[in-house]
Amino acid sequence: MAVKKVVVLGGGVGGTIVANLLAKRFRPEEAEVTLVDKTGKHVYQPGFVYVAFGRTKPKSLVRDERKLLRKRVRLVIGEAVRIDPAGRKVHLADGIALDYDRLVIALGARLVPDELPGYAEAAHHFYSLEGALKLKEALRAFRGGRIVVTVASVPYKCPPAPSEAACQLDYYFTKKKLRDKVAIHFLSPLSRVFPLEPVNPVVEQIFAKHDIQSTIFFNVESIDTNAKTVTSIEGETVPYDLLLMIPPHRGAKVVEDSGLGDRGGWLPTDKHTLRTKAHPEIFGLGDCTDVPVSKSGAAAHFQAKVIAESIAADLTGQPATARYDGHVMCYCDAGYHKGISMSFDYEHPPVPPPLGLKDWLGKMVLNKVYWYLVPSGRV
Ligand SMILES: Cc1cc2nc3c(=O)[nH]c(=O)nc-3n(C[C@H](O)[C@H](O)[C@H](O)COP(=O)(O)OP(=O)(O)OC[C@H]3O[C@@H](n4cnc5c(N)ncnc54)[C@H](O)[C@@H]3O)c2cc1C
Repeated sequence: MAVKKVVVLGGGVGGTIVANLLAKRFRPEEAEVTLVDKTGKHVYQPGFVYVAFGRTKPKSLVRDERKLLRKRVRLVIGEAVRIDPAGRKVHLADGIALDYDRLVIALGARLVPDELPGYAEAAHHFYSLEGALKLKEALRAFRGGRIVVTVASVPYKCPPAPSEAACQLDYYFTKKKLRDKVAIHFLSPLSRVFPLEPVNPVVEQIFAKHDIQSTIFFNVESIDTNAKTVTSIEGETVPYDLLLMIPPHRGAKVVEDSGLGDRGGWLPTDKHTLRTKAHPEIFGLGDCTDVPVSKSGAAAHFQAKVIAESIAADLTGQPATARYDGHVMCYCDAGYHKGISMSFDYEHPPVPPPLGLKDWLGKMVLNKVYWYLVPSGRV
């Protein structure tokens, strides 16, 4: 029997878990698992916010992808530039072409700041290590004024991150004894401050207690970098001294360039089987897809297990019965050593969580143990 070829594009949380689980399941003479990543580095993005607030060093958030992969996984460091479903090939920037029997696209979301005029000049963010380091310097230099926290557009990864950042700003300037000189104004594109409705009252209470002003139905239309204002589609204009805005996101460029994406570049993917709608031998995983869940490491983690099971079934001629149920689990750090956790799926919304030390500790522990438990697929 010919060796089956599985190619995984993207060495983030989702791609790494799938590759490791398949390499554990199959002997090399049964299946060859190749993972392609353009940097060869694995980055733990939930730590970016702590870089911005001076509590984590960037080097603790980056590891060599090779060290996180089982020996049997072949790592190719290169950029995928075209996917050819008809020929079952992936083309890399350096001219190499990889054949596949099953392909997993786990390329994450792309930040596209240039899509909002004025963004690059005016806004800060913590959605990349570079962005977090620049924000750290801006916060260090900030002596007082109005900080506006918002998102350029939806969807964006980690929906709780902007409100978590507002809480972290309050905590940071309180510790610096500058809080009375800093106004924090949170602008939400939705009808509430927090994306998940059952959790919204908890976040509203935190905002009220810590004097974080909020405005809902504020969908950013433009930034006036001279006047230092942000204007919404709804017609409101808000001034800022420091603008913290999550940049616009799109799906992966290679997906768009290969004609596989929707209008936002997201990969149309069945929300249960995680097979792409146009090509059942191609799976969509994590942030790069249009699966209707929070773009989160937790979702990518749970989806990766379903995809590994489905590919194992395909390769062994069994019916693929694994289904993703929309499960997401996440922690939110509210400052002052308090946090909340949320767990939900397609059928079950989150139960309003109590705010407390336990969930803050949960987040701190996860930040440490991530490297040992998650990429390996052990949990
Ligand atoms: C500030 C912040 C805080 C967050 N907090 C949380 C949290 O608390 N909890 C949570 O669950 N999630 C959180 N997330 C979201 C989480 O990090 C992502 O959802 C998760 O990393 C998505 O995993 P992925 O495998 O889909 O993509 P990614 O982890 O983004 O990996 C994509 C990989 O693809 C590679 N790649 C891209 N293009 C190419 C190409 N053309 N060729 C080859 N390789 C390519 C990249 O180098 C990268 O390694 C947070 C994100 C941010 C930014």
